[in-house]
Amino acid sequence: MFPLTVENKHVAQLLLSTGTCPRCIFRFCGVDFHAPYKLPYKELLSELQKFLEAEEDELVSEIPNPPPKKIRLQEPEDQIDGMDSLSQNGEGKLSVTEDGSSSSKNSNLNVCNVCLGILQDFCEKEFIKKVCQKVEASGFEFTNLVLSVSFPPQLSVREHAAWLLVKQEMGKQSLSLGRNDIVQLKEAYKWITHPLFSEELGVPIDGKSLFEVSVVFAHPETVEDCHFLRAICPDCFKPAKNKQSVFTRMAVMKALNKIKEEDFRKQFPCPPNSPKAVCTVLEIECAHGAVFVAGRYNKYSRNLPQTPWIIDGERKLESSVEELISDHLLKVFKAESFNFSSSGREDVDVRTLGNGRPFAIELVNPHRVHFTSQEIKELQQKINNSSNKIQVRDLQLVTREAIGHMKEGEEEKTKTYSALIWTNKAIQRKDIEFLDDIKDLKIDQKTPLRVLHRRPLAVRTRIIHSMETCYVDEHHFRLYLKTQAGTYIKEFVHGDFGRTKPNIGSLMDVTADILELDVESVDVDWPPALDD
Ligand SMILES: [Zn+2]
Repeated sequence: MFPLTVENKHVAQLLLSTGTCPRCIFRFCGVDFHAPYKLPYKELLSELQKFLEAEEDELVSEIPNPPPKKIRLQEPEDQIDGMDSLSQNGEGKLSVTEDGSSSSKNSNLNVCNVCLGILQDFCEKEFIKKVCQKVEASGFEFTNLVLSVSFPPQLSVREHAAWLLVKQEMGKQSLSLGRNDIVQLKEAYKWITHPLFSEELGVPIDGKSLFEVSVVFAHPETVEDCHFLRAICPDCFKPAKNKQSVFTRMAVMKALNKIKEEDFRKQFPCPPNSPKAVCTVLEIECAHGAVFVAGRYNKYSRNLPQTPWIIDGERKLESSVEELISDHLLKVFKAESFNFSSSGREDVDVRTLGNGRPFAIELVNPHRVHFTSQEIKELQQKINNSSNKIQVRDLQLVTREAIGHMKEGEEEKTKTYSALIWTNKAIQRKDIEFLDDIKDLKIDQKTPLRVLHRRPLAVRTRIIHSMETCYVDEHHFRLYLKTQAGTYIKEFVHGDFGRTKPNIGSLMDVTADILELDVESVDVDWPPALDD
């Protein structure tokens, strides 16, 4: 059934004669069910014309004081002429009005004067197919998608003009129409195109999908249509570094909210002029939201930094833990870039043994995202086969939220270390045994000299929960420590010129130094351990 009623007839007639497309006419008549919008454009147009002609006689008898047909049909033109003279009186500079009047005389109804073609060709199957070809060629793996569409900024201006016109015309018929009764262009576009996209790509449209297809429309007459707003509301159009034009959608909306109705009417024709051109497609872009991979790593080298070690632009060591892991992930996930994070970090010369250190990697804009647990296992194997400096375990896909577990309560966690210690004085077994009995030793650590360039100066209290010694020879022993996370172990051994108190040297009354340090365990129970 044709969705317009007798009440809509006058407005529909007016809009059609001024170059508005049938779908925009539906929108401004408040048609809020989807089916009529989905009809083929040509069919819609002829249905609409039939409706406007056929019921003309019946209409006359239904409306108490119908304006004579002749006048009514002329009205749109009168309106345009009236607007022209108003605009020229107001702002003679506006080329929009000159162009508009000429195009209205040519009665060029091809490109809709409100949607600039968005609800015409850009809703048709042919266009949707073109977009879908791009999506398929992009090489992304997806099982659903979210569609984002960006329209040229002046659509809001034209929409506003059409709304003022419709409101006024409805008022003349003692009918009221609220701004919210009009169907938004975006909504109508969605109703028409979502089923087409879904059908063409064979996946559902899902607002929560991580795969986003964005279509950006532009129009050559944006500046022409919008510049009067800048004259009235210069504050709304301040140049921004990352914007090519001051006429952004947000700025235009802001200005439209500020401008008074009568001022708008003086500056912009209601109904809007027919445009010279149709919208262009500025870009069709696909992007996939980040995915996250977590695991635990061991580091067996005393010559490998955790992250690339670069001083004054010069690389000090050729590799790093994060690169040895992430390079493989980048390739397999076909991602653009990555972000590495971990539960704490070790120095370049410190090994991480035991169960390893939890880490997580964010893969940005990945093209491949679906993996079986077998494939992830193989990926882990590949990483482990490629280097003897690191090993990875418990590699798995995780959610963004889960990464929080790794950082949660990091300060309260404990870590265990093994240190090889040298003393200047000769020692016997009995000289170190007392360390085994010390429990929950409180130490004060001033920010170590070696990290002062990147950490603020502070005194932190840390706890050495327990120690265990193993005598090696007269000048060496091994010390196993269980400490609060965040303890500087090297400084606890040598004292850092008295900045850490007490320290092994002061406790033993010797000069002590640390020759080797290993992290034996990081007590964070995330990510979950996997079989094998
Ligand atoms: Zn339209």
